[in-house]
Parts: sequence; C-alpha cells; structure tokens
Amino acid sequence: MRSIEKSQQAFKDASNYFPGGVDSPVRAFKNVGGNPLFIKKGAGSHIYDIDGHDYIDYVLSWGPLILGHADAKVVTALKAAVSNGTSYGAPTLLETTLAKKIQSIVPTMEMMRMVSSGTEATMSAIRVARGVTKRDKIVKFIGNYHGHSDSLLVDAGSGVATFDINTSPGVPKALAYDTLTSPYNDVATIKQIFEKHGDEIACVIVEPVAGNMGVIPGTQDFLQTLRELTQQHGSILIFDEVMSGFRAAYRGAQSLYGIQPDMTTLGKVVGGGLPVGVFGGRRDIMKQVAPQGPIYHAGTLSGNPLAMTGGISTLEQLTPALYDQMTEKVNRLAKGIKDAAASHHIPIVVHHVGTMWSYFFNQGPVNNFDDVQRSDMAFFAKFFNALLAQGIYTAPSEYETNFMSSKHTDDEIDQTIAGFNQAFDDVLK
Ligand code: PLP
Repeated sequence: MRSIEKSQQAFKDASNYFPGGVDSPVRAFKNVGGNPLFIKKGAGSHIYDIDGHDYIDYVLSWGPLILGHADAKVVTALKAAVSNGTSYGAPTLLETTLAKKIQSIVPTMEMMRMVSSGTEATMSAIRVARGVTKRDKIVKFIGNYHGHSDSLLVDAGSGVATFDINTSPGVPKALAYDTLTSPYNDVATIKQIFEKHGDEIACVIVEPVAGNMGVIPGTQDFLQTLRELTQQHGSILIFDEVMSGFRAAYRGAQSLYGIQPDMTTLGKVVGGGLPVGVFGGRRDIMKQVAPQGPIYHAGTLSGNPLAMTGGISTLEQLTPALYDQMTEKVNRLAKGIKDAAASHHIPIVVHHVGTMWSYFFNQGPVNNFDDVQRSDMAFFAKFFNALLAQGIYTAPSEYETNFMSSKHTDDEIDQTIAGFNQAFDDVLK
C-alpha cells in the first residue's frame, strides 16, 4: 500500500479552512472512502502527489487537459503572455483569435461571449433564452449537470448526484418551480411536458452526450425530438457542450448527430486548463446581449488574456487526426476493460464517445439516471481504490467521466488494462 501521509496531513489542515477540505465537492473522495491526493505537479499523462507517487491521470482536471499536463506549446505561450500583464479589462486581439478558432470548429457559434467558467456560460445562456423568449420556464434532464447556478441545480448529475443532494438547499423554490425536469433519453415524457407547458418554455438545455452521470450518449431520436419540439413551440435549444465540446468529437457532440442547436455552451477544453467558458449561437439571439441588446451579461475577467492564450494554444494543436488517435486508444481501453470484467465474471457496461469514457458495474442497459443508480456503487468504491493503489487515477464517482489525452501512450493503455485486471483480482480476493 502506498503511504499518503503528507496528503493525509494536508487534507486535515485544509479541512480547517474549506468545507470538506476542498474547493469542489467530488475532489474530496468522500463517497469512495478515501483521502484526496494533494497534487504537486503534472506532466503529460501523469500527475505526481506530494508524497512523491506517480499516477497515470484519466481525470485530466475533469476534462480540460486534452493535450495532457503542462503541454510544451501551451506553457511557452502562457509564459510569453504573462510577461505582458495578466488582465486589462479592455478588448484584446486574443479574444477575437479564439472566437474565430471556435467558430471554425463549431460553426453554429455565429456570435459568442467569453466567460470564466462553464457555470457562467450556462447561467448566462439561459438568461439570454429567457430574455429573448420573454418566458420563465426552462427544461433540463435528470442527471445532466450544467454547473451550480440556481435554476440549473435541480435534479442534477455530477457531485449533486454523488452526494445525493437532489435539489440544493438555498435554491429559491420559485426558481426550482420554473425548472421542469424530465428523464434523459425519454421521448414520450418530454413530448408530454411540451404538450402541457410548451408555450411557457424559454429553453431546453441538454448535454447531447451526457458526462455527469458517467457517459451516456443521447439517442438520435431523443435529440431530434428536442430539436423539433423547441422549433414548434418557439423555445431555444441549448446544447451544453462544456464537457462534450472538443471531447465527444473534434467538432463536438453536435457534429455527431447532425443537429444544430440555437445556442451552445463551451468550457473545459476551450480554455486548455485556464478558466474559460463560452456561450453563443445564433446571431439574432446573441445580438440581444448587452451592450448591443438589453440582456445583461458582464465579467471583470471575461476574455482574460492568459485564459484566452490557454485556449488558443490548445485549440491550435487539435486536429481531426489527433481525435482519431485518441479515440482509437479509448476503443482499445474500453475493450480491455470489458474483457477484464468478463474474465472475472463481473457485469459491466462500458460507455465511450470520442475521448470520453466510463464504466458502470451494472447489468445494463444504462440510458438514463435511474439506470445509473442501479449500479453497484460499493463495488465501484473498492475498485476505484484498487486502481489508485496501482497508480491509476480515475474519476472517484460513477457519476463522473474519465478522459483521454493526446499524451497517453499505447504502453500506458496496456498498463491500465493490466491494472484493471489486477484491480478485479484484488477486490475479489
Ligand atoms: N456543464 C457541463 C456539461 C459540465 O460538465 C460542467 C462541469 O463539469 C459545467 C457545465 C460547469 O462548468 P464549471 O465547473 O466550469 O463551472
């Protein structure tokens, strides 16, 4: 067993200052019964904790680090940028450079606005949708997570699901009342909701490939239905691609389904590990944002030059060919995990889309939040710790996604598959 004495001490110390010892709940490893590792540095596909241990990292800062840790070109660009100052609160060429790059990859982003997190992006997108339609109700799907703003923190995935919080205390009832929720991938229920409330619904926000209850791809029929219903009822369709953007595919999940949302939110990869979120979409909608229109949005650090540089230097290195390589690695890993489970007679469902992957200890199928909840969470917790003990750092919850970076090597994939086999041996002995 690896000694993590320094991380244990650091966690104790941090717990005096931060609720649960962390700045974001799932980091605490609470539901897997562990002590979080305190990280000293990252390099490529690896992270190193303060006790001196080395891990192959599949969390990758919860998605952003598609080029791995401390990518040489990103670091060089950031060093150059920081020497010019860290923030001006005035326009820079960097913002337009990043916007052009985003639009060239995701053409539905006709106009956009930079923000500093995914939460800000989705929060602002629904404000715009409400402002444009002059309606209050929004629809979200059970187990989808769109950040921690009040209207979206209802029946959410990710940490909200991990800690079984459902609807957070502190969210005003009136706001929760205007958030209608529906099961993911359930065409009949969303049709009923639109029959009853269609003309009151400002927007439907959806993760087209869900990644906050593990990976669950939306079905073509489901997403197509959302497109048709929103069009019929004058509602705005928002694809929340904070996670799936530049992850499910180079051009995002929307390119996989051939469906054009009215608005898209981006985050994570788009900042290459710096704080960036983006909301945007149809020009006629985005023109309503202040100061061009009346719908207010602002930010002291929006479009921050360091954050823009992180995004530009990351997106410039992405190519469709790189996605083929990463996807191939995910395919091989997924097969290895399935084989490992089968040879140990453990039911498993492995889902993967592009560079996103996760597994459920579940008989399957897993198409929505209820299905995920039928997974064996106790087994997952033991299994997670068995992987960690071998230096394989994966998401510490069944409600989260693992990722692949361009830096993971074929040898590391083999090592990880061997690690899954060993973890089954360890947990079952
Ligand atoms: N939307 C989705 C789909 C996400 O996965 C997340 C974060 O995991 C968010 C929004 C919120 O982003 P942030 O944590 O940057 O506020």
